[in-house]
Amino acid sequence: MTHVLGIVDPNVQAIGRSMIVCCDTAETVEVYKLLRSQSLYALYAHADLPVAQVQATNVEWNLTHARNSAPVLVCSDEILDSMDVSNVEVIVHFSVAKNSSLFGARLWCARRKFLHPFLAEHPIKQGVVSHLLLSENDSSHASSLVRLLERCDVEIPRKLLAMRDRDLLQKEGSKQAQLCPHFKAFGRCSRQKWCRMRHCFYEALDGAQVPMETVRPPAEGEVKFFQFPVYVIF
Ligand SMILES: [Zn+2]
Repeated sequence: MTHVLGIVDPNVQAIGRSMIVCCDTAETVEVYKLLRSQSLYALYAHADLPVAQVQATNVEWNLTHARNSAPVLVCSDEILDSMDVSNVEVIVHFSVAKNSSLFGARLWCARRKFLHPFLAEHPIKQGVVSHLLLSENDSSHASSLVRLLERCDVEIPRKLLAMRDRDLLQKEGSKQAQLCPHFKAFGRCSRQKWCRMRHCFYEALDGAQVPMETVRPPAEGEVKFFQFPVYVIF
């Protein structure tokens, strides 16, 4: 938890306006107390606060502050819609967002600071910086995060790749996971790196539910054959 201090403490490094986003109220209060215990100038907002207090936080955040004396805003995902925040320069994802919409809402708080792709002489030299804090408990998110970073064309940390690989191994070994329909139909899954289903066959789970020796072809009726194209990849 104290990792967050090294990111947002203006005494450690010169940074712009920082926002720490948490998943719920309890986490928000905990992080806020940690910052205050270090005498950092911090504001907070979560869904259990009165509307007037959230509005007061909005006003204080949007006052003009010197670069190294701006407050650190700590807030939860569910209050972001009610916040008037658009100028964040450093986003700290204290916990992983529960879905992609919430993740997008976090980034939306920095919309005035994004570099314009078509204006080469944009006055802002540095874009928005995002910090994702992950623990071993977040391994189930590793695949999605790797995919996101691949699309952003940025370097992927080795530790995150290792976490993704461990999660995949664990998932493949889990008999609770459902057998992937692509693997079942075609013997392979083109999205295996991200697919959340199982890609190994367990006789007891996936085999025939009735003994094969008791299966007899019907004495009469219509038999249909389907021909599928077969691709051989070397
Ligand atoms: Zn699959």
